[in-house]
Amino acid sequence: MLSDDQLMRYSRQILLADIDLAGQERLLASSVLMVGAGGLGNPAALYLVGAGVGRFLIADGDHVEASNLHRQIGFRQGDIGTNKAQALAAQLRELNDQVSVQVHPRFVGPQWLAEQVSAVDLVLDCTDNFAARAMLNAACVAAKKPLLSGAAIRFGGQLVLFDLRRDDAPCYGCLYGNDESEDELCSESGILGPVVGTIGTLQALQAIRFLTGLPVTEKLQQFDGATLQWRSLNFRKDPACPVCSEKVCTKKS
Ligand SMILES: [Zn+2]
Repeated sequence: MLSDDQLMRYSRQILLADIDLAGQERLLASSVLMVGAGGLGNPAALYLVGAGVGRFLIADGDHVEASNLHRQIGFRQGDIGTNKAQALAAQLRELNDQVSVQVHPRFVGPQWLAEQVSAVDLVLDCTDNFAARAMLNAACVAAKKPLLSGAAIRFGGQLVLFDLRRDDAPCYGCLYGNDESEDELCSESGILGPVVGTIGTLQALQAIRFLTGLPVTEKLQQFDGATLQWRSLNFRKDPACPVCSEKVCTKKS
């Protein structure tokens, strides 16, 4: 049962027939792990905590810099030098004190991920490098947890849901293999705030849809911020995927 305060706070999304009271209750009962509190994670977290996710765990070992402020919209100048997960959590608690906002103010490792991923309903990949994405993907494949991945660089971005609850679902490794050669950083290549903000915002949208039980596309969605065009690409599980192929699973077990 929602309290009067919750009915008022979430009234505009409860009004949506697809959400309704049942969807809001699902959101309030859900838990999310978000790895990366940067340009993607800031808008994604603000919308998800605003929407009333029950438990929201943020992991990031990085610190706020002046060069982050144009796109990492939860931070203020006074946050410079502080841990990103902690600075964002402070904003989120101000926004909605009914959400349990938890912080891991360090870069994640495989063991920590193995413990935390299995305890949440959805994992958000808001990281900015291949090594972190690969580690997150491996943890989600092992725990059979859905992974909602976003990325943005220069004028472009993409997002995709890997619903790893299903054995036939492709993973991040099926799409990209072990190729680290494409690893580009915003600190080297540049990024516009609204481009990465668009992707982070849509990660929040897809997360809300997923957590309330609404259909979510599993196609790879690519955004071109120069033309405002979207491309939607199909892809499949790779039987030779180094992460999720059955051969590898058998070897492990
Ligand atoms: Zn795979």
